[in-house]
Amino acid sequence: MIIKPKIRGFICTSAHPVGCEENVRRQIEYVKSKPKMDAPKKVLVIGASMGYGLASRIAAAYSCGASTIGVIFDRAGKDNKTGTAGWYNTAAFEKFARADGIYAKTLNGDAFSQEMKRETIELIKKDLGKVDMVIYSLAAPKRTDKEGVTHSSVIKAIGETYTNKSIDPAKKTLNEVTVPAASDDEIAATVKVMGGEDWKDWIELLSKEGALAENAVTAAYSYIGPKLTHPMYFNGTIGRAKEHLFNTAKEITAEYDGVKAYIAVNKALVTQSSSAIPVVPLYIAILFKVMKEKGLHEDCIEQMHRLFDEKKLYSAPVTDENGLIRLDDWEMREDIQTEVSKIWEQVTSENLSAVTDIDGYSHDFESLFGFGVNGVDYEQDVEV
Ligand code: NAD
Repeated sequence: MIIKPKIRGFICTSAHPVGCEENVRRQIEYVKSKPKMDAPKKVLVIGASMGYGLASRIAAAYSCGASTIGVIFDRAGKDNKTGTAGWYNTAAFEKFARADGIYAKTLNGDAFSQEMKRETIELIKKDLGKVDMVIYSLAAPKRTDKEGVTHSSVIKAIGETYTNKSIDPAKKTLNEVTVPAASDDEIAATVKVMGGEDWKDWIELLSKEGALAENAVTAAYSYIGPKLTHPMYFNGTIGRAKEHLFNTAKEITAEYDGVKAYIAVNKALVTQSSSAIPVVPLYIAILFKVMKEKGLHEDCIEQMHRLFDEKKLYSAPVTDENGLIRLDDWEMREDIQTEVSKIWEQVTSENLSAVTDIDGYSHDFESLFGFGVNGVDYEQDVEV
């Protein structure tokens, strides 16, 4: 069928298989063009189908020749309904990896569940023996825990209601959003979903079942950002969950002999998850404008390649005084943030296109689902 984007707010309910494949191919080409590294060799990526997880998988496979097992939660296409972008991305990644002689297998199901953990560990033991790296890159709205309780995360401020400018990327308009303050229960639920409890469960089970190599490295991702976004992110419910994630990294390192857990603080980028956070999309549109003008713009794949290469995630991670790997180093540069703040004050509905990279933002958003990708003929009939 001929597939068109069906965008509602920050969600697109259709995806284009050819566009998704082209996106994956380009990420692979980028990594292939860079010098190779020799480790890690066997990598588990949890949340491997989109954004930072997919880019981590590609970086590990194509920089280091690593065998990868991915855990995803996606849907295949059926009749006249397209699959999810993550499903197409993963199908494409496996196709390319196989053609290049790189082991890649994927398990599709809820990574928070015990069944998925057991199934994954069985596959690791059967095919790889042990993994020497675990990337934890889930971004999810809810989690059913081991006890069968379902927790829903919220993106809210803490303490008091927060109002600021934001954008509607689909309509390319400026608006104002008011985000209510979260209740204690909502804060706790968000920590349950986006904090480190499930990450530690994975490490615990992998270790107990003998599927984790001695001196294995594990990493999860976080964001800090400038003061401008703090009420919404760093000091909000998500920030609270990320604080828990950070403490979990310390616990994993302390409790599992030889295993080292790290938090990489990544750059703000357009992903399915970040587009759901109020205020942040406008910040990203301004940030892109400034970083592109200074030749410093990166996407997920450049960030994840830098994590393995310059930041040496596997061998000797380069961290700040708090033990964090700072991939947001360019974003947080003083000259960048000064310029961003200046534009933030000036931006209006009238000058939105001129002073921000709203077009780049919208393009990246569509492209997450395989639309607007250069070289793809969207008038062609495709098999979903
Ligand atoms: P994303 O939405 O692009 O990817 C999330 C992945 O998790 C998807 O592949 C999704 O299918 C998978 N997933 C969700 N629920 C799942 C489940 N139950 N089982 C299996 N897979 C599941 O998000 P992202 O932006 O790449 O986020 C990944 C991590 O990076 C998050 O921790 C996020 O906070 C962090 N991060 C994101 C940004 C940003 O700007 N996007 C910046 C810094 C850090």
